[in-house]
Amino acid sequence: MDIVLSGIRPTGQLHLGNYFGALRNFVRMQYDAKCYFFIADYHAMTTHTDPAHLHDHVKTILSEYLAAGINPDIATIYVQSDVPQVAELSLLLSMHAYVGELERTASFKDKVRKNPNNVNAGLLTYPVLMAADILLHRATHVPVGKDQEQHLELTRVFARRFNNMYGVDFFPESQPYNFGADLVKIPGLDGTGKMGKSENNGIFLADSDEVIRKKVMRAVTDTGPTEPNSPLSDGVANIFTIMEAVSSPDTIAYFREKYATCEIRYGDLKKQLAEDIIKVVAPIRERIEAIRNDESYLRRVVRDGAEKARESTDRTVSEVRRIMGIRPF
Ligand code: ATP
Ligand code: MG
Repeated sequence: MDIVLSGIRPTGQLHLGNYFGALRNFVRMQYDAKCYFFIADYHAMTTHTDPAHLHDHVKTILSEYLAAGINPDIATIYVQSDVPQVAELSLLLSMHAYVGELERTASFKDKVRKNPNNVNAGLLTYPVLMAADILLHRATHVPVGKDQEQHLELTRVFARRFNNMYGVDFFPESQPYNFGADLVKIPGLDGTGKMGKSENNGIFLADSDEVIRKKVMRAVTDTGPTEPNSPLSDGVANIFTIMEAVSSPDTIAYFREKYATCEIRYGDLKKQLAEDIIKVVAPIRERIEAIRNDESYLRRVVRDGAEKARESTDRTVSEVRRIMGIRPF
């Protein structure tokens, strides 16, 4: 059976892009494979060191995952720092990770360029910690976006190198998990390419109905089609793309027809989109609120999650110690 691992950094709230691009697929996936989901608080510290907010962000993401349908009785969901074995495996793997290959990763170079005053060692060794996350469970598959493919490639390099150096067949070569046709990209409502935390254009799973309506009504459009079947401007195309995710086929067909015949009123289009987004988000938001306030439930989920995670991580770390020559007296 496939062993799948996915992590998310607790650096803010989840938005519609995270939901349709990742979370919704995870919810389905948990019934088909042995799934580990973790909240990557160590990773967050490479860019976000704010002790006043870290715990809160972890709690937010945890509540959002559970509210969206991750089932802690089926999948394993845990907080990275609750399983400090990952730090030991990261240290051991770092002995065979070359500085040159770490410096060459696109994400590291990007961070150096954007933040030349905070080029910390954690940023450089980010791919080693990520490899440790994955190899701790000997995960066979990792759902990754385009920006993470290079890191996963490095994980395979480290796994192969370890196996070769010690003459073992211990670590698997973890492959990207492909959602295929199910993988959708949610654009922003500001006429730009992608909805994202860094883009600051998110509709969040925790947004109230009113906030969602406001955000949608502000969406960028144009002055309207003047000829039948004219091409869509970026802003209007984005509205239709989000509709594909949240609205019924009838609704989409109705507005496409109105556009094609130049009778469309963008105000009506946006009102409909807002209501259809609310239909998806409102029940999730209500569950987020209920779960977030249930301290004892959250405590139990993370405790059980850490315990389940440690079953495989303890085994991996003691095996790696033995292979590398760390033996008990
Ligand atoms: P950041 O700006 O910090 O990179 P983000 O909003 O891009 O944040 P990530 O934490 O990078 O979100 O992504 C978490 C998951 O959500 C990934 O699997 C990613 O591919 C997916 N995802 C993020 N944004 C979108 C989007 N707009 N459409 C579809 N999937 C998305
Ligand atoms: Mg991203």
